[in-house]
Amino acid sequence: MRQPMVLRLHASGIPIDWLTLEEAAVLMTRPSEGGLVWSDGEGAHRLHGGTSSLTGCQSYIDIPEVMGVAPPTHAMLAFEHTGFNRMLCKYREGLRCAYCGDLLTRQALTIDHILPRSRGGRLSMLNAVACCQRCNSLKGSRTPEEAGMALLLKPFVPTMAEVLYMTRPRHMTPRQLWYLKAQFRNASLRDYLSEALAA
Ligand SMILES: [Zn+2]
Repeated sequence: MRQPMVLRLHASGIPIDWLTLEEAAVLMTRPSEGGLVWSDGEGAHRLHGGTSSLTGCQSYIDIPEVMGVAPPTHAMLAFEHTGFNRMLCKYREGLRCAYCGDLLTRQALTIDHILPRSRGGRLSMLNAVACCQRCNSLKGSRTPEEAGMALLLKPFVPTMAEVLYMTRPRHMTPRQLWYLKAQFRNASLRDYLSEALAA
């Protein structure tokens, strides 16, 4: 997500998703459809439209950084990421190996079953971590205890706010971050990712 995005929240503050500026403009021009209740960071972006043949003036619309909507636009309000997602697993670890802490690309990271598959371990957000190829091979089909390899983080199931943070646009603003952080539930995400961001 390279272009600026708008953070959409339920009016009560629960995050829903990231919108493109164009999607946000639709909500601004047709508020009855999107249930727009409030916005914050007004005028952060300006989208230009067509030029009026009568006045010669070009139309525009100012887009905020954050939009609060009601009623819920879709079922994602109840979203808790209970399934497994490779990309989120890697972002959850801050793109670091969960065993040695090395910072890697998404492509270079592998997925390790903490309790090995051969021992009945399921592929879930709680039983999987992202790690480097070397640590994955070293651990093999052993538990971390058996292999003498400590996990640097406690795996967790991310909340919607945490998912939106992990998949954040490149140009996420401090204001958008403030709204998301208010909804973080997993302390390890705070510590681990703030360290990853500082690196
Ligand atoms: Zn490693």
